[in-house]
Amino acid sequence: MVSLSTIVIVACVGLTANATKLPEIALIIDDIGYQYEIGRTAIELQQSFAYAILPFSPYGQGLARLAKSLNKEVMVHLPMEADDNNHLLGPSALRLNMSRREIEDTFHASVAAVPYAVGINNHMGSRLTRERVHMNWLMHVMRERGGLFFVDSRTTSASVASDLAHQTGIATATRDIFLDNLKTKTHIKEQLNRLVAAAKLNGRALGIAHPHVETLEVLRNWQPAKVGIRLVRISEYVKRGRNNDESMSNADALLASDTPKCGNQSNNANPAQDPDI
Ligand SMILES: [Zn+2]
Repeated sequence: MVSLSTIVIVACVGLTANATKLPEIALIIDDIGYQYEIGRTAIELQQSFAYAILPFSPYGQGLARLAKSLNKEVMVHLPMEADDNNHLLGPSALRLNMSRREIEDTFHASVAAVPYAVGINNHMGSRLTRERVHMNWLMHVMRERGGLFFVDSRTTSASVASDLAHQTGIATATRDIFLDNLKTKTHIKEQLNRLVAAAKLNGRALGIAHPHVETLEVLRNWQPAKVGIRLVRISEYVKRGRNNDESMSNADALLASDTPKCGNQSNNANPAQDPDI
């Protein structure tokens, strides 16, 4: 006869094994702050997504408070100079022609403008994230301030931002898949499938999406557990990054060699579809 304690132990071991084995996904919805209704709809989705808010945007602070009240994580979506379309940067962008002092002051002002932020990711930035000097200034002022992680949105495959964050001792992660470069539900579902596939190959994957009606409709119906995925908060995803990176080297090799194209590989395959957003 099997004792109750044996059953409990077996059940607990099973749960622990499942919890540690399930591939993990974190998802950031960024570009929040200029449109109230769609921002609110995004934040009110049931899942534990993170919300990256543009500093000094008209609705940014209110939406950050709403997110906090719903136990969602908030990030600063920090604008950085791009190769093109810099008229879309908005206020408080980090630019190539700035001094170190200007980069530091802009960083502090931007963080202060987004209440409850736990981390930062770059808005646009295909130009600036290639610049070692500027990225070093940013990472050093982040380290001085403390308490924030950095997610590289990877709007260019030449970005050095995440590497320099890591070298500076800032907790960091890199975007794998943009979900909605094309605003069709078919494309967004395909990208979500790619994100899941990347997580299953690599143990984990990080997606970025935007507050478009089509995106939110797809995400509203997405049930990660049904496809064998554990959706984690972005802070947890970033914190666990180092260990996973080290233990997943075999999966990394598999992803590199046996490539159903995913992550920035697929996104960069067609530069016209690689938005600097
Ligand atoms: Zn953006």
